[in-house]
Amino acid sequence: MYSLTKYFEIADHRVAMFWQCPHCEDSNAWYGPDWYQDNGTPACECGADLDYIKTEICLIGLDT
Ligand SMILES: [Zn+2]
Repeated sequence: MYSLTKYFEIADHRVAMFWQCPHCEDSNAWYGPDWYQDNGTPACECGADLDYIKTEICLIGLDT
């Protein structure tokens, strides 16, 4: 359950989402929220939709 008391806003450029093809071992990619908004679920060259794996955020320089 999302809660405004537990989540805080972070800039899009600090967010990266990792996607991987369910069929091709070496087919994976990082995408940011902007890319996802414009393109939706990324696809592999084999035609399959990539599976969402994880999200990572960059905190380096957050206070500057
Ligand atoms: Zn593939």
